[in-house]
Amino acid sequence: MPETAAAATTSSSLETPLAHAAAVAVPDANDLAGRFLLAPNPEAASEAERVQALTDLHFGSVFTDHMAHARWTRGVGWTDHEITAYGDLTLSPAAAVLHYGQEIFEGIKAYRHADGSIWTFRPRYNAARLNISARRMALPELPEEDFIASLVDLVRADGHWVPSGEGESLYLRPFVFASAAFLGVRAADVVDYYVIASPSGAYFTGGLKPISIWVSQNFHRAGRGGTGFAKTGGNYASSLLPQQEAAAKGCDQVCFLDDVTERNLEELGGMNIMVVDHDGTVRTPHLTGTILEGSTRSAIIRLLIDSGRHVVEDTISLEGLLSDIESGRVREVFACGTAAVVVPLGRLKGEGFDVTIEGSAVTSEIHDRLTGIQYGTYEDPHNWMYRLA
Ligand SMILES: *Cc1c(COP(=O)(O)O)cnc(C)c1O
Repeated sequence: MPETAAAATTSSSLETPLAHAAAVAVPDANDLAGRFLLAPNPEAASEAERVQALTDLHFGSVFTDHMAHARWTRGVGWTDHEITAYGDLTLSPAAAVLHYGQEIFEGIKAYRHADGSIWTFRPRYNAARLNISARRMALPELPEEDFIASLVDLVRADGHWVPSGEGESLYLRPFVFASAAFLGVRAADVVDYYVIASPSGAYFTGGLKPISIWVSQNFHRAGRGGTGFAKTGGNYASSLLPQQEAAAKGCDQVCFLDDVTERNLEELGGMNIMVVDHDGTVRTPHLTGTILEGSTRSAIIRLLIDSGRHVVEDTISLEGLLSDIESGRVREVFACGTAAVVVPLGRLKGEGFDVTIEGSAVTSEIHDRLTGIQYGTYEDPHNWMYRLA
């Protein structure tokens, strides 16, 4: 890949089709509510059980009483929209997803504000991205307003599960998979959509503690023409072995390089990366098709530009980054994504190098701005927050 001149992101990265789609106003939640019919869980947790489950929260291990569901059948479309008891699924052992991995997902949070109201962040971004992923994986698209309605109806059924502690939220996991019982290799004729909800504490415990990164030089998470831009389970499956390698090298997370030059930084297994230069410029890798376009990345770019910073989408070579860290030209590197929000990278390690990065001033400034908007303690100049309940 040729070294491309750094393009100012003022227009380019903010005007992506996804950022554009996300900016379309969403109808009031009261007008979307009721599209998914509630069948209350007769075995919902007691208040004592729920209070117990909400103490000492981690990530992704506790689930609420209900889940949203709809089914798609070829020639018919989406039917059976419901909020039903959270519980195990009945699936044919021949279900296509179990064999060929035809699956996509999303991740978005519900936040409780001080007045008790419940909000989410840019839901149309995730709705539109689900459909970008759907097209790549030959799955049916879900109308964006049905996606948002499923979050409204699920959160209204399980609102008492949204925690209120610092950094806590209700993590919502929408997903779509091929449930048709058929071993032929083709796009499935029956597909299910679910949303499950998990009250969660901070993703990385211990606040803005820097994490260490293993830069994988043997494995890539995505290749040209592949599925890197889609949020699909297979991308995560292929990142697990490199993640184990990172752990064996004493690192918290793995960072991938592009598969063509094997020189340029792309992203972590589930987070985008940003580099802060000594002059305050922030650089992030171009969306090359092998990188997932994060909602957090998009919002951070906007907030940085709002605060007068220069932001560029760039080709960031590992070699260049290492020498810029050594020379002091790069002051901070951080990762960003919905689950963890913003995390400083304190150490980059790989075959033949091991460098530390001290700075985190811009990282923590952006963390505070973004979480302030999400938790309703800062002004929301772009109307990113959407009231669910
Ligand atoms: C989900 C994801 C991200 C972060 O996206 P957000 O919308 O910010 O949560 C980044 N990279 C990958 C590979 C992802 O799957």
